[in-house]
Amino acid sequence: MTHHYTVLFGGTVLTFDGALPTDAASRADAATRAAGRGGADAAGRRATALCYAHERILAVGSDEEMLALAGPDSLVVDLRGRAVLPGFVEAHAHPYWEGFVAGMALFAGRERRTAIRAIPGATEHLDPDAWLVARYDPTGWDRPEDPTRDDLDRAVPDRPVLVAHVSGHAVTANSLALALAGVDAATSDVPGRFLVERDASGEPTGIVRGPDAWDRLAAAMPAPTAAEGRAALARAAARVAADGVTSVADADVGSTAGIEAEMAAWGDALESGAMPLAVSLVPGLARIAANPGDPVPSPADLAALLPGEVRNQVRLIHVKLKADGALTTRTAWLRDPYDDAPHAGGPVHEPAVLAERIRRAAAAGWASATHAIGDAAVVAVLDAYAAAPAPPGTAHRIEHAMLLDDHLVARLAASGVTAVLQPEFLAWAGPTYRARLGEERAGRILPFSRLLAAGIPVVFSSDRPVVPGAPLAGVRAALRHDPQLSAAEALHAWTAAGAAALGDDDAGCLAVGQRSDLVILSSDPVAVPREAWVSSTDGIRVVATVAAGHVVHGSLGWET
Ligand SMILES: [Zn+2]
Repeated sequence: MTHHYTVLFGGTVLTFDGALPTDAASRADAATRAAGRGGADAAGRRATALCYAHERILAVGSDEEMLALAGPDSLVVDLRGRAVLPGFVEAHAHPYWEGFVAGMALFAGRERRTAIRAIPGATEHLDPDAWLVARYDPTGWDRPEDPTRDDLDRAVPDRPVLVAHVSGHAVTANSLALALAGVDAATSDVPGRFLVERDASGEPTGIVRGPDAWDRLAAAMPAPTAAEGRAALARAAARVAADGVTSVADADVGSTAGIEAEMAAWGDALESGAMPLAVSLVPGLARIAANPGDPVPSPADLAALLPGEVRNQVRLIHVKLKADGALTTRTAWLRDPYDDAPHAGGPVHEPAVLAERIRRAAAAGWASATHAIGDAAVVAVLDAYAAAPAPPGTAHRIEHAMLLDDHLVARLAASGVTAVLQPEFLAWAGPTYRARLGEERAGRILPFSRLLAAGIPVVFSSDRPVVPGAPLAGVRAALRHDPQLSAAEALHAWTAAGAAALGDDDAGCLAVGQRSDLVILSSDPVAVPREAWVSSTDGIRVVATVAAGHVVHGSLGWET
């Protein structure tokens, strides 16, 4: 039965309508309140009830007002104290890759030896000559060294094996996979992009680092079929929807299977309903214009790769670039050397090349979303953005921006650039960051409340599947990391700020005419004491997710 109206009443509706990015005004003194900003905080106006008709919100208000709208064919749901928020916006994730690896093994745990010994078990259900593709996460290992070809050859000698570091910034191949990919002692490195680690005799150890490592090795594997691509996106949609996400951005389209295969998979998944969420596609610039001098296709050129019926469901605003690598793999570009290595990492592109690539992308109509983790990389990106403003109506983004100092915070604030940050990284790799950077620099990582106070647009995301990625886990990690940050501020960064970063004016707050994208939580997340979030005893969970009026996770039927 199709209901014309759905009325949710008897709960807490955190609208984020009229929300400020920070609670600063509500924390401030009477003078601020007298200036007319009193009461406004990061969660916006409150209500107890909401009514939506299919994909649009019709009204937000009191129980009495909303129940008066209900007719005989309305679905009327008593929230019984549950909370309704705008659906979470996942502004930086890798859904195609997440769906692709969802069924694959992840070798993690505490003992390196045990993790390596588990590898043969992952071949059980594979065809005899199929590649074993899996991921590994050494951040918790007793000996955090990456696996080598020898480790993999001993574990699985009779089929090609490719294991990717969870960060995506390094892979290890066994001897068969190296041979199929044509990587040997004679293979030359491409500085910043593709680095073959070698032993004392010059032979590859099997470990390859850099943003092109996966592509170069995976190119030797059979390509995913169209059906596999659609299935990967369907799996990813179900996984993110279960975490309350109604809008997802793929922050490097083309990085797993190439731009054409992935755009076709997105078109297919949207058209078939396998991907029922709002979608932003952020093509990898290197995937659409391989060399710095190549012409850059426009957003309209990319949209033309999608079926006409779904083009208006997809936003194409940013391209993805990488200025450096990751701290976990010691490929982030720092101003001063690592604490646990005699080098400072390095750039993916020389700064002049990065700036020229961003300028050409802007000329083709794209704003940029550039990965920069180390402080030296952040400087290069801000320099490049200063020389090449984003197209009108858009803003450049900086992804991760992990290592900052006072001067860089001030530069970032003055630049108008959006900071797209990943609080759950801190819960995942905090001790590794301290080992890489030392206490002083590690203490400067991701100063959320200082960025907000400086007026920088702060957006939270997860970079999933690098980490599990649930927004509520991100809120917990952020509050644990930053004693000055409030739950409302963290939730604002997962909703209103995310929608703004993706240029999605119809999402991010619950107000009349907005898309009916919402998440229902077990109770009011702003009423929970801060200490409960910090100790993960808040008990808040996602009960249901509604995207454009469709229940995409859970159910509204808890009464029956
Ligand atoms: Zn990413």
